[in-house]
Amino acid sequence: MQRQQILDLYTWSPGVCFRHPEKGVTRTTPIKTLHPRDDGSHEIRACEDCLIAMEGIRREKAARAGSEYEPGHVGECGEQRA
Ligand SMILES: [Zn+2]
Repeated sequence: MQRQQILDLYTWSPGVCFRHPEKGVTRTTPIKTLHPRDDGSHEIRACEDCLIAMEGIRREKAARAGSEYEPGHVGECGEQRA
């Protein structure tokens, strides 16, 4: 699958990448919403490079587990802990 095809599976809007805050506001997609007890909700956003990297990890994991890789579900993997 091509990078652009993967990117097209997500909704992009301006925001700050959780791994690249130094980039400032860039094109990002929400990958997780945290709900700290006293602080409403906090959205974790990823830039294109990080999203592609995460999809790559998911693809490798699926290949190792012998399961089918389906892109577009990075936000549902639940690997980040609040
Ligand atoms: Zn990033």
